[in-house]
Amino acid sequence: MAFLFLSKSDKVHIWKEELTRLVPDLDFRIWPDAGDPEDIDFALIWLPPEGELERYPNLKVACSLGAGVDHLMKPGMVPDHVPIVRLVDPQMSRQMREWILYAVLRLHREMPVFEAQQRDGIWKSHPNPETAETTIGILGIGELGALAGKALAALDFKVMGWSRSPKEIEGIDCRHGADGLDAVLENSNIIVCLLPLTEETRGILDAKAFARMPRGASVVNAARGAHIVDEDLIAALDTGQLAFAMMDVFHTEPLPSDHPFWSHPKVTITPHVASLTPPASSAPQIAENVRRMRAGEPLLNVVERSRGY
Ligand code: NAP
Repeated sequence: MAFLFLSKSDKVHIWKEELTRLVPDLDFRIWPDAGDPEDIDFALIWLPPEGELERYPNLKVACSLGAGVDHLMKPGMVPDHVPIVRLVDPQMSRQMREWILYAVLRLHREMPVFEAQQRDGIWKSHPNPETAETTIGILGIGELGALAGKALAALDFKVMGWSRSPKEIEGIDCRHGADGLDAVLENSNIIVCLLPLTEETRGILDAKAFARMPRGASVVNAARGAHIVDEDLIAALDTGQLAFAMMDVFHTEPLPSDHPFWSHPKVTITPHVASLTPPASSAPQIAENVRRMRAGEPLLNVVERSRGY
């Protein structure tokens, strides 16, 4: 029985320290020095080379080093018989809540306008928008979206949420299905995307979606770059249909140096930092899944491959 760390993370030694403290008999191996492939039963992975996991005939669990698993859904990434588990970590959720609150407040209080005025030496006030009359629509009200949504509701925003299945969350007007999406888009002054990237959600924020939103609305994306059709977003910003966009994730990361988002006056970008996996708080759930695997008990946070998240 051995544990394989298969990621280029520069925090590998912290992971090793945390996990071997929690599971003292853990035989922790660091890829590519996996030793005998037959020994490996648990792999902690981020972007494994395609086909790599096929080399371990006794692999029983593949654990994503993050909350998202879209990159592991491609055929050949994780053998079909190996369950994929993901991280659901309160500290990660709080980091995301913070980034979303920052993004929403920045756009709600039109900070990009004031920053542009400051650059030009202009002292000019604008009416403050009414918070209680401002609707934030959250696409994806799972672990991350629900926490951010509740925090926005506590600040007196109207909050709408969209999920696949029906939900009831205090303070959030929850919608689902195709009609639900239209209602959220049509009523939201700011759309926040926290969906997993699946075949159903790829390109969901396109020209059609932007046209449904009220003129002058804004978009926040902290999910995956491929949720947005970049050219449609730029066109909607340039015509004034959308006011601003704040994004943490992109089709290609790092964002190519010639991408128009870098210099667009209505776009703010951060380099995929909204929520980073913290080893100290995530290690206990990984250790718990190692224990469960050994005991033959049901694993935590198993991904449903058929739905893609
Ligand atoms: P989650 O708990 O699985 O929640 C996903 C939500 O999306 C659920 O509400 C789900 O609906 C909804 N959903 C999925 N497919 C849908 C569809 N076709 N139509 C409508 N709703 C749909 O995921 P999470 O932990 O909140 O994470 C969300 C995503 O955030 C991750 O997949 C990852 O890509 C991204 N992320 C980004 C960062 C960053 O630093 N930028 C960090 C962590 C995660 P149901 O509730 O009905 O299932």
